[in-house]
Amino acid sequence: MIQIYSNSLGKEELNAVEKVFDSKWLGKGPKTEEFITNISRKIVTSNFEGMGFTVATNSNFITTTCCTEGIFQIMDLLGIKEGDEVILPSISFVGVANAIMYKNAKPIFCDVDKHTLNPTVKHIEEKITPKTKAVIVIHYAGVPCDIENISSLCKKHDIKLIEDNANSPFSKVNNINTGVIGDFGVWSFDAMKILVAGDCGLIYCKNKDDMKTIKERCYLGLTSGSGMSNPIDKKWWEFDVSYPGRRSIVNDITSAIGLEQLKKVDGFINKRYEYHEMYNQGLIDLEWLQTPPSSFNKSSYYMYWIQLEDENTRNELAKHLKENEIYTTFRYYPLHWVEHYKEVGGEWELPNTELVAKTTLCLPLHQALTNEEVNKVIEKIREFK
Ligand SMILES: *Cc1c(COP(=O)(O)O)cnc(C)c1O
Repeated sequence: MIQIYSNSLGKEELNAVEKVFDSKWLGKGPKTEEFITNISRKIVTSNFEGMGFTVATNSNFITTTCCTEGIFQIMDLLGIKEGDEVILPSISFVGVANAIMYKNAKPIFCDVDKHTLNPTVKHIEEKITPKTKAVIVIHYAGVPCDIENISSLCKKHDIKLIEDNANSPFSKVNNINTGVIGDFGVWSFDAMKILVAGDCGLIYCKNKDDMKTIKERCYLGLTSGSGMSNPIDKKWWEFDVSYPGRRSIVNDITSAIGLEQLKKVDGFINKRYEYHEMYNQGLIDLEWLQTPPSSFNKSSYYMYWIQLEDENTRNELAKHLKENEIYTTFRYYPLHWVEHYKEVGGEWELPNTELVAKTTLCLPLHQALTNEEVNKVIEKIREFK
C-alpha cells in the first residue's frame, strides 16, 4: 500500500537516542533545550523595531507533549470561559475544538475558501460578535492563509489570534514564518507530520510573560527550579507552585530525535515540493479534476489535494485508488458534522466547507515516496476516466 503520510527516521536518529541512553539523563534536559534553541533559530520573525527580519530566540518558544496540549494551554492562559466564543474553521483538527469545549466556551465554525480550504478575512469577520475572544486559523496543507489581513482584523477587534501551524512548520509569508504572525502559534511533530519526533509539539507566544506562564504551567506550575537546579544555599527539596499545572514536558529522547530531523527537514520539504510538482504536471490537463491553486507564499507541502466534480466521483476515485493499493483521504472532516459538536448548537451555514468536504481528495505526499510511486498514483488517476 502506498501510504498517504509517512516519515523518514534512520540511523542518525537511532545514534542520537543511543547517546541519550548512555548519558543516563532521559528526562527534560540538555537535548530538550538544544531542540528548542535550534528550532527557534530556524524560525524567522519580524523585527518589531522595524529593522527587518530576525530569527527567533528561546524566550518565545517551548516544546510540549503535543500540539493539542499547546492549544489547551493557550485557551487556559487566555482565561477562555463559559459564554466566550472562539472562531475556527469547521475544517480543523478535532483537538482544537476540544480545547475550546473543555473551557465550556463555544466553538464558532467558519467557512473556508473553495480552493485553498483556508479561512479568509470575510469568513472570520462575519462570525465576530461581542463574545468573540479568540480566532484559531490553519494554514491548510502548508499553504499560508491570508494571515496578515486576518491579524489586522483581530487587532481591530481586540481578539487574540492563534495559528495552528501543524501543517505549515516552515511556511512563510513575505519571508516571515507562519506561526509567529499571530499572538500564538502551535506546531506538531507527531508521527504523521513533516518533522517527526514521535509525539511532540511547539508553542510560540509573542508576549514573553505569556511564555513564562505557560512554561510554568507545562511543568506542574512550579515557580522554582526543581532538585539540584535550586541554589545550594537553599534546601533543594523545597518548592513553590503558582498554579495547578499539568506535566506537559518533553524528554531528551524525543528531543534528540527532533534535533536530527531538524537537520533533514529542508530536504524533506524540497522532496515534497518535487512530488507536488510531479502531481501538478501529471494531472493538470485532466478537465474532470482540479489541482491546487498556486500560491505566491512559501508552502511546507504537507498535503496535496485534488477536487472532483461531485461527491460520487470523489468517493469512486478513492475506492479505485484503494483497490490499486493507494491510500487517500480527506482532511479535515468538518467538525460541524460531528455529533459531539452538534450539542453546542447553532445553525451552521458553511456552503464551501460542505462542498469541499464532499469533493476533495488528499493524495499521498511525503518525502519517503519514490518517483515510481508518484507516477503510479498519477497513472491510476488518469485511467479512472
Ligand atoms: C496533527 C495536527 C494537530 C495536532 O497535533 P498533535 O501533536 O498530534 O496534538 C493539530 N492541528 C492540525 C492541523 C494537525 O494536523
